[in-house]
Amino acid sequence: MHNIDINVHMVEPNPEMEMVAAAKKALGEAGLRSARFPEPLESTFDRYYCEKTLKHVRVALLTGLMLYAVFGVVDLMLLPADRAHMWTIRYAIVCPTVLAGLAFTYSAHLRRFTQPVLWLVMLVGSLGIVGMVYYDPTPAKNYYYSGLLLLIMGAFTFVSLRLRYAVSWAVATTLAYEAVAIFINKTDETILIQNSFSIVATIIIGAFSNSLMENYLRRDFLNANLLEHENRQLQKATLELRRLSISDALTNLGNRRHFEVMLDQEWARAMRTEMPISLILLDIDFFKNFNDNYGHQAGDNCLKAVADAIGAHARRSADTAARYGGEEFVLLLPGLALEEAAAVAEDCRRAVEALNTTHGHSEAAEVVTISAGVASMAPLREANRLDLVEAADKALYRAKTKGRNRVVCWEGEEHCSPKAYSHAAV
Ligand code: GH3
Ligand code: MG
Ligand code: MG
Repeated sequence: MHNIDINVHMVEPNPEMEMVAAAKKALGEAGLRSARFPEPLESTFDRYYCEKTLKHVRVALLTGLMLYAVFGVVDLMLLPADRAHMWTIRYAIVCPTVLAGLAFTYSAHLRRFTQPVLWLVMLVGSLGIVGMVYYDPTPAKNYYYSGLLLLIMGAFTFVSLRLRYAVSWAVATTLAYEAVAIFINKTDETILIQNSFSIVATIIIGAFSNSLMENYLRRDFLNANLLEHENRQLQKATLELRRLSISDALTNLGNRRHFEVMLDQEWARAMRTEMPISLILLDIDFFKNFNDNYGHQAGDNCLKAVADAIGAHARRSADTAARYGGEEFVLLLPGLALEEAAAVAEDCRRAVEALNTTHGHSEAAEVVTISAGVASMAPLREANRLDLVEAADKALYRAKTKGRNRVVCWEGEEHCSPKAYSHAAV
């Protein structure tokens, strides 16, 4: 008894897996920073981020727009005199910009510019607030300044700006605020220090939340990618196992199991379509002598060459060539009648002869030859597919007893000579 050891490497290390491992490592080491994956994973993640946050961005812009518009009422209460300036900033500049940004998110082919566009929209929004701080009449200029803090928090968390965009936007916004507070409003030094401290603290907290959210998203992305990758590996392994289970390791033809499955399938089809189905059994002549005299390795090489020659005659997609066992092969030819199958068998016989493999211990010829038995049936309800195999086997036996290196067809109890079919058109 032999142990059958199918050694299939289910998960071989490959560049894709190495990349995912490197990405996981980057994620682990990133800490508060935002991690970067090795390419091309990073570019894929950029697209994933864009798609994943798209809805979020739209909701954020719409909510921001509504809040911004509604707060116009406060302008009216705080600044009855200056409301024209405030409303110009609010309704003529910022709201239309946010609306344009919102419309932009619906253009699929410009999606890769979402981040810079969001950055610009947010900048118009924050400069608008800085403008309002300028007009704010309250002594501490607190009301509009608090709006600025809210916007900074929103930019880092709510609108899904990437960290580098959010930070550069926050720096630009802070500089604009400081310039107005110091040079135009001449804000009191204590208040200025307090305000600046609050802005910086908000930016730090915002950056922390932003990078945390991005890391969660990166983890999500990796898991999805890993799962997809593992599925592909599994699919590949399943296909490979399937191939191994139906193929013959030495000759690469189908094995006997495969032949039996195909015979079942084609027999059933032939019954439905009422088409004939033909079978050729082929056996190498005096192969034991070949092995005994030239060695097992030479025998194996000869088997491979004969298998190739026979396999080349399974030309149509429904044809099956298989190793039936030892030095015996089968060719299943659905749809072919006996004469056509006999011609294919004769072609096989000639092809093997033409290999010109010296066989000094054969009584049939000076080279390796095969004998073939051909049978054909139009399956009837009461017929059995094994009858077809038995008929081909009887024909093969007949070919052997008649001297080998020939094709014999089975026609009921009659055997016919190979020559009668050798010129039939296929
Ligand atoms: P016949 O013309 O009547 O078919 O005679 P034969 O010698 O070919 O038939 P027999 O059944 O006596 O011998 C078949 C030989 O095929 C026996 C065995 O050594 C050889 N054989 C079977 N399988 C393999 C294989 O995988 N490799 C090698 N090298 N030889 C094989
Ligand atoms: Mg033999
Ligand atoms: Mg045999």
